[in-house]
Amino acid sequence: MTMPQSSAATRTNLPVVADEIFRLMSAAKPYGRREAFALLRSLSPRRRMTLPETARLLATEDPMVWETAAVVARAVKEEVFGRRIVLFAPLYLSNECSNNCLYCGFRRENREARRITLSAAQAVEEARHLERKGFHRILLVAGEHQGKTAVDYITGVIRAIYRETGMRILHVNAAPMPVESFRALKEAGAGVYQCFQETYDPETYAMMHPSGAKADYAWRLTCMDRAISAGFGDVGTGALLGLNDYKFEVLSVIRHAEALYEAYGAFPHTISVPRFKRAFGAPITVAPFPVSDSEFERVVVAYRLAVPSAGVVVSTREPAALRERSLDIGASQISAGSKTDPGGYGDGVRRHESEQFEVDDTRPIEEIVRAVLRKGYIPSLCTSCYRRHRTGDTFTEMALDGHIRDYCLPNALLTLAEYAVGTADADLKRRCLDAVEAGRRDLGDSALRPEFDRKLAVVLAGGSDEHF
Ligand code: SAM
Ligand code: SF4
Repeated sequence: MTMPQSSAATRTNLPVVADEIFRLMSAAKPYGRREAFALLRSLSPRRRMTLPETARLLATEDPMVWETAAVVARAVKEEVFGRRIVLFAPLYLSNECSNNCLYCGFRRENREARRITLSAAQAVEEARHLERKGFHRILLVAGEHQGKTAVDYITGVIRAIYRETGMRILHVNAAPMPVESFRALKEAGAGVYQCFQETYDPETYAMMHPSGAKADYAWRLTCMDRAISAGFGDVGTGALLGLNDYKFEVLSVIRHAEALYEAYGAFPHTISVPRFKRAFGAPITVAPFPVSDSEFERVVVAYRLAVPSAGVVVSTREPAALRERSLDIGASQISAGSKTDPGGYGDGVRRHESEQFEVDDTRPIEEIVRAVLRKGYIPSLCTSCYRRHRTGDTFTEMALDGHIRDYCLPNALLTLAEYAVGTADADLKRRCLDAVEAGRRDLGDSALRPEFDRKLAVVLAGGSDEHF
């Protein structure tokens, strides 16, 4: 079975060949301990785990090997980004969709869904709600519907949110588009374009996506090429875990990441780890290939070791304890306080009939900030790289050289201080400010220190958006 090749219009020269992945998997001999430890000792941001090595690691069952791999994944993450954990929230714009993905509550044939498409003014209200909570970055999410969620609609919403709120960066998770639509999205100020292939196996893909534009596997597989050629330096990929053998999917995501790097000099900015959740009105109620929590952890570890520069993103689909554990083994970004129904933030009422899937970790951002601090990490609301042109190949190079970290820590501390100043919760404020002070000491005599101290004083006096 061969994956469709990308069209001649793309430069990735598609890369992700199912046969290659199946061959790798069947040839992959599990590691013995000695071999595994030798490999793990050799890994670093610059010395990433190769695809054949990843296949062998995934074939290895020895828990001690995985424990060691998790420790190395954490070390690699901290070499790249330091101890900061980025927080963001999704903003669902519309649950109208003309596709029929068997796992999703937004699918066209879900007749019981209550359909909602936010107007630009309603989207601004939702963004304001998130801004009051302390978020500066949001991920706009929409179903695929020609009449309701075409690119003009999304760019209109983006412009309105930038114009009418203090939101600093808007990322987009929406259906694949032609180059000119991506260009319009970029011109409107979108940060990262995110789209999950769901499954890289063409047969499973065809089964899961029986109709609508999304039935076209190759159109989706090549969307990153179009986004990049339209000016998106940063793209986000992933596979929906649970539809197919997770090892195949993880290797395919990594192969796709390598292909993008080979073609454009940049690894995907993020790799998400969405796992199937039961959705209201979706015909699939249990994952055909369930992924256990310990397998989920292995996926996080594998992505971190194989694509060290990527933000590994764990969403509120996952339970609180697993999300916290993910932070110790390679995840670097988490969503917080998410609602998956359009308009869900405004009144706080949960509506199963308009949400995409059930969220597991329902803790509000305040609790997530507390939990991240308790674990010794620094919650970051930073949006700096996108606005300082540290994107695409520049970001990848800086991340692999350990230079992004020099910005991550001061920016995380400045945004945490801003969050502390804005919160009415005295106990949380104190915890945040203690962490800022400790982090400031960690900056030592870094070259940025004097400027950092000046910016921090501005923030503590009520200033905003100080960053490097
Ligand atoms: N409609 C666009 C698309 O499909 O790419 C973008 C938005 S879609 C709402 C975002 C992602 O949600 C999908 O790519 C899919 O991976 C994920 N998703 C859909 N149904 C899900 C479910 N039941 N459980 C977990 N994730 C799901
Ligand atoms: Fe539509 Fe996306 Fe849901 Fe599929 S996953 S039904 S394309 S919203």
